[in-house]
Amino acid sequence: MAEENKKRIAIFGSTGSIGTQALQVIEANAELFEVEILTAQNNDVLLIEQALKFRPNAVVIGDETKYEAVKAALGSTDIKVFAGENALVEAADFDTYDMMLAAIVGFAGLKPTLKAIDKGKAIALANKETLVVAGDIVMQRALENKVPIIPVDSEHSAIFQCLIGELRNPIEKVILTASGGPFLGKKPNYLVNVKKHHALQHPNWKMGPKITIDSATLMNKGLEMIEAKWLFNLHPDQIQVLIHPQSIIHSMVQFEDGSIKAQMGLPDMKLPIQYALAFPHRLANESPRVDFKRVNVLGFEEPDTKTFRNLTLAAQALAKGGNLPCVLNAANEMAVWAFLHNRIGFLDMTAVVEQTMDHITYIEKPNLEEYFESDGEARNFAASLIKI
Ligand code: NAD
Ligand code: MG
Repeated sequence: MAEENKKRIAIFGSTGSIGTQALQVIEANAELFEVEILTAQNNDVLLIEQALKFRPNAVVIGDETKYEAVKAALGSTDIKVFAGENALVEAADFDTYDMMLAAIVGFAGLKPTLKAIDKGKAIALANKETLVVAGDIVMQRALENKVPIIPVDSEHSAIFQCLIGELRNPIEKVILTASGGPFLGKKPNYLVNVKKHHALQHPNWKMGPKITIDSATLMNKGLEMIEAKWLFNLHPDQIQVLIHPQSIIHSMVQFEDGSIKAQMGLPDMKLPIQYALAFPHRLANESPRVDFKRVNVLGFEEPDTKTFRNLTLAAQALAKGGNLPCVLNAANEMAVWAFLHNRIGFLDMTAVVEQTMDHITYIEKPNLEEYFESDGEARNFAASLIKI
């Protein structure tokens, strides 16, 4: 394919787990993709290495104190270097890319993603928090700008794939599968003593620290319920969570005739990443295949919502809507940060989220400004609980 036909990808959060795997996909399919923008928050060393290898038009380093180092290291190239939070939004406003891979973690991903949508750019969405915080506004703007939002999250990619060819067929429900994380089957008397190194060991997936903790507390699945609501326009009753420890079925869709479609594969984020980048095409690869003679049991069980109460809190936020999912997300980001810095215990994370949800004033139909305010208020209140 000619150079000018390559899809130009802007990777926001290129130094993270999703970002680095996306670069592997791009490297393996260099005839299809080229890298236009790379961004990182702190990891200047990896950002420089990636930039020298993939030669983007521009890079952004979030931490402004690292600007000089990045600028100097790329001085012999014509790669433009920017720094700071605003530069992320300015880079999202560039004309020169075709698709944004939104792979920043947390609320920080919202503004650049909204800017890309307003600019009419296709979005490959890994950053689920964007939809949790302001899903109504994000989806509305995507509709107005005719922007496709293609999920990268494996469960939502699975649902998206199951829906191909089903345009006119209503969904009865979606079944979001969850591995259960490292503490499947454990009770509060065990969880109370869990330490960070233990919680950071996920059985099936290697991911960034925040989502790994969210997977251990099941908040990740709660966030994914809210993400599914916005992506697929679902009512809360249509979203079921099912524990499936092998992570072979990535999620399922049940239609009105009772027929269920499942999307399966080995747990490997490169698959949903490459599906989103290349949609509607599938790219051949050499990754290992499922061998059903070896994976001969696919297990399913109900989630233990009495122990993993984050799921209940997220279901409440999902049902009530308004600014509550935004508040849940902000409190959770603070709580996970505090747990990762040994400030609070494993079960305290849920308490911080619950108390913050109880405290912040409910707004039924917030505008974007009110979402930002709710996020800030929730962070301040959660910080007061954590005493930071
Ligand atoms: P990560 O922590 O490994 O990487 C995060 C990236 O975002 C890094 O490049 C970092 O520099 C950047 N970043 C962090 N804070 C920032 C800030 N304040 N401003 C700007 N940039 C910032 O995270 P990850 O595991 O790659 O996850 C990224 C997103 O994808 C998350 O929303 C996560 O929920 C979602 N996701 C990840 C996986 C996975 O397998 N890792 C799977 C599904 C969904
Ligand atoms: Mg997921």
